[in-house]
Formats: sequence, C-alpha cells, structure tokens
Amino acid sequence: MKPVPPLDGTLAMDSQTLAANAHDEGNVVNDQTPYAVLFPGSVKDIQNMIRYCAQNGIKVATNTGRNSVFGQTLAPGGLIINCRSLNTIHSITPNGADVDGGVLWMDLIKAAYGAGLTPAVITGYTQLGIAGTLSIGGLGAITSNRLVSQVDQIQQLQVVTGTGDLVTCSMTENTDLFLAMCAGQGQCGVITRAVVNMIPAPKLARLYRAPYATNDIATCLSDIRTLADRGGRPRGFDWVASVNTAGLNGLVCLWAAVLYNPNMPPPPTSVLMKDCSSTARTAIATDLPYLDYVFLVDTAVNCFKSGQNWDRLVKPWFNVILPDSGVDKYVGTLFPRLTPRDVSPTTFVLLAPLLRSAFTRPLYRVPSSGKWAWVCGVLTNSSLPGPDQAFADAMLARNYEWWRSAAAIGGTRYVEDAIPFSKADWQTHYGAATYSRFAAWKRKFDPHEILAPGAAIF
Ligand SMILES: Cc1cc2nc3c(=O)[nH]c(=O)nc-3n(C[C@H](O)[C@H](O)[C@H](O)COP(=O)(O)OP(=O)(O)OC[C@H]3O[C@@H](n4cnc5c(N)ncnc54)[C@H](O)[C@@H]3O)c2cc1C
Repeated sequence: MKPVPPLDGTLAMDSQTLAANAHDEGNVVNDQTPYAVLFPGSVKDIQNMIRYCAQNGIKVATNTGRNSVFGQTLAPGGLIINCRSLNTIHSITPNGADVDGGVLWMDLIKAAYGAGLTPAVITGYTQLGIAGTLSIGGLGAITSNRLVSQVDQIQQLQVVTGTGDLVTCSMTENTDLFLAMCAGQGQCGVITRAVVNMIPAPKLARLYRAPYATNDIATCLSDIRTLADRGGRPRGFDWVASVNTAGLNGLVCLWAAVLYNPNMPPPPTSVLMKDCSSTARTAIATDLPYLDYVFLVDTAVNCFKSGQNWDRLVKPWFNVILPDSGVDKYVGTLFPRLTPRDVSPTTFVLLAPLLRSAFTRPLYRVPSSGKWAWVCGVLTNSSLPGPDQAFADAMLARNYEWWRSAAAIGGTRYVEDAIPFSKADWQTHYGAATYSRFAAWKRKFDPHEILAPGAAIF
C-alpha cells in the first residue's frame, strides 16, 4: 500500500484510540478494532482519506456524536472518520444556520438563542451530531408534534462522496445525492456541512406532567390524541407525548408543553385540557426557561452518566414508528408485558404522535396512512456495565420479534436502534422500489462499497 496522503488533522493508530473505537455507545457490538481513526483538520482530509481507502479497498465508517448503539459507526480493520473535529458554526440567520456536520445540536441551540432563534426540529437529547441525526433522519421529540423530521428541515448539504468528490446538494441541485444522504445512514457519503432551518425561539415553556396507571394506557393515548389534534395556538399544546424515565413506575406518563413568550401566556389548564380525562385535567404544570426545557433530557442523561455508568451500560434499544390505526393494540399488548429487565431505572420509554405528512424524504420510513404516526421507543439499558453478551442476545431477539409485530401492522423501524436485520429485512423496511433506488444511489456514489459497513444494508 502507498503511504497515506499528507493531512491537516490527525490519523491516530495508538492502542488507546483504537480500543475506544472498537465499540460504540451501545456496547452490544464489541471488539471491532479499526486500523486507524481520522480526526480531520479539513474537509480535504476527508476527501483524501476516502480516495485512499477507495483505492486500497479499506472500509470507512463515520461518526459525529458517537451515540449509535448497534455498530453503525464501526469499521473493524478499517478507517473511522470522527467528524466532531470539524465543528464551526458559520452563520445563524432567520433564513437558516450554516453549520459544519460535526456541530452538536446543543451547541447550535445555545449559539442561536442569543439571536432569538432555535432549530425548527429539536431532538430529545441534544448532544447528538447534526450530521449524525440527519443520517438517520432525526426525530423531533420535545418541541412539536408537527415539526418532527429533521431531514425535512434542512436546505442544503455538503457531502464527500465515496469517490472523494465534494458535492453541494439540495432539493434543486444534485437531488439524488441529497435524497440519498437524508436518513441514508451514511451509505453514500460523509456530510461535512448543512444549512438547517431556524424558527423564532420562545422564552418559556409550561410543562404539564401526569402519570397514568399501566392498565389505563388507552385513556392516555386517547388524551394525547385529543391534545395533538388540537395542537398549537391559541388553545393547544405545542408538544404532547408519553415519556417515562422511572422504571416500571408510571410507564405511561403524559408530558404536554406550551412554548410561549411572556406577552402571550398559555390559556388556563381547563382550556388546554378540555375534553381530556380527569388524570390530564389534574396534571401539574411547571414553568421553565426555554433552554432548561429543551435540555431536560440532557440533564437526565448527564445525571445517568455521572451516577450510573451510562456509557458502559449495554443499550439494545428498540424504536418503531406505528400507524395510528394500530398503536392502541400494539402498545396495549406490549407495555403490560414489560419487565424490569426491559425497563431499568435509566430506560426511556417514549410514545409520541408525529404528523405523518411532515415526512417526505424517501429513506425516512414511516407508516403509509393516517394523519398521525406514533414513535414507540423502549430504550432498554442493562442495569450493570457491560459487556453482557447473553443479555444483549436476548434483547436483540426480543427486538426482532417486536419489530416483526410492528411491521405486520404497517409499522416501520427508526434506525437509531438495535434490531438484527438481514438484507431481506432491509428490503422489507424500505419496500422493493425504494430499496432498489437506494441500491442504485449506493452504486453511483459509493462504487467501491467502502462506506458505513456497520448497517449491512446491501
Ligand atoms: C439519550 C438519547 C436520546 C435520543 N433522542 C433522540 C431523539 O429525540 N430523536 C432522534 O432522532 N434521535 C435520538 N437519539 C438517537 C440519536 O439520534 C442517534 O443515536 C444518532 O445516531 C445520534 O447521532 P450521533 O451524531 O450521536 O451519531 P453517530 O453515532 O456519530 O452516527 C449516527 C449515524 O450517522 C452516521 N453518520 C455520522 N456522522 C456522519 C456524517 N458526517 N456523514 C454521514 N453519516 C454520518 C453514522 O454512520 C451512523 O449511522 C437519542 C440518543 C440518545 C443517546
């Protein structure tokens, strides 16, 4: 092999860096030691190393926030590109934020707030990379049930393809590449820069919370549906969901938030909760500054990281998007059967309605009918630090069965999770036509088949 090209950044091959990159945040897939890890000092570094790897048949995986849980960012014997080292926020205006792919959502939210702006779609946890979430789709999980797809709220991407070319793409320029990168799991390129839609940032959030009995899931779903349908001003909530982080206690717990400015406070509870059950009508409200509100999940995870060894826990996460017509039965069957093994004290259980028409990118798979689709996540963590292969295997088998039940009613997988998919399963996931379109993009933009081997889609 020829020597690697000169670089502006660093190519690390020391044992400590390689060991840290032999597994991901999930600790489900282990011992996948790469040959080297690139911390690029420039986009040119990414181009040069991808060309080098293409010429030498070396696999390349990319990470940004490094939160993947099922080997999506690993490359045994190959190269890992850590995009976090390219993290400049170039500009923030009401027309959009121009950012490097390695920027974390949290950093963009903080930087934009001073200018009275906020990203149009915000994930629950915000220490996620912008390129990382765009590559899996990005699901808004705290500010809106309507603005929910992050890849539908970007204007432009800059991408290094599998041939090392640097290409700008959007819905009007190099559209194939743009669509291949939106929720494309990094199969066709590395996102180096993005223009993200911004909206005015509210100053405050009023958050209502109310736990329901596990045998009363139907009432909780019915209340959430009522509130989501009425969502937005002047009488409704911006965001409503069921979120649980308390083990099996309060497995279904209503969270409903109005985001507002002091000159236009929310209406009283009786108006907001009109037509809901007594549980919802007696929910307790808390007022929070907007940034404290959007960082609530970060606060919880930071706490888990410091006290519960979060980074070492085994995380066989499960996440599907269900059709409205099937959610009651699916969740009504699944949730009462959950055990402490499925739902440990650090496990998030999420159920949230998503406006289905907000998803237009072909690789972001959502159910095909209904006004609402429902994300259903059981983000199982082991109670003790891993690795624990027996636990991981049992949970992967569980996830596969749960996914099959979801797929049988028209549900889709949200690909941040850990479900052992065969190529046939990926074909089911994308549907025959979209899978063959995706495969054609893969052949065109990554002809040497070096990029993102971990997902094993093709
Ligand atoms: C506590 C917690 C809460 C979460 N809540 C949400 C949520 O509300 N909504 C949501 O959508 N997700 C959520 N996630 C999941 C999260 O989006 C995924 O874990 C995602 O992988 C995170 O992005 P990352 O930058 O950390 O990813 P990484 O692990 O670095 O990468 C994720 C994927 O993107 C690809 N990729 C990374 N960088 C690039 C690049 N530059 N170019 C091309 N491909 C790239 C990788 O190959 C991989 O497939 C949550 C995760 C955690 C830990």
